[in-house]
Amino acid sequence: MEKDLMDILRCPEDKGRLRLDVDEEADDGEVLAGTLTCQECEHAYPIEDGIPNLLPPDLQAEIEEELEDAAG
Ligand SMILES: [Zn+2]
Repeated sequence: MEKDLMDILRCPEDKGRLRLDVDEEADDGEVLAGTLTCQECEHAYPIEDGIPNLLPPDLQAEIEEELEDAAG
């Protein structure tokens, strides 16, 4: 994920600004892994393989449930 995206990314729930915590960064400055935390609702959105996952919390829970059902 390019850090420039921080200027346009917003929390899907309340359009709040996001804070970037970088866990892993490429040589060119691209964020490979980390967390985007909403400054309004404090919900954390993961960045995995360079892709920010900005699904709303309820949708995220729904998908996780479905994945668990599929696995079980
Ligand atoms: Zn929020």
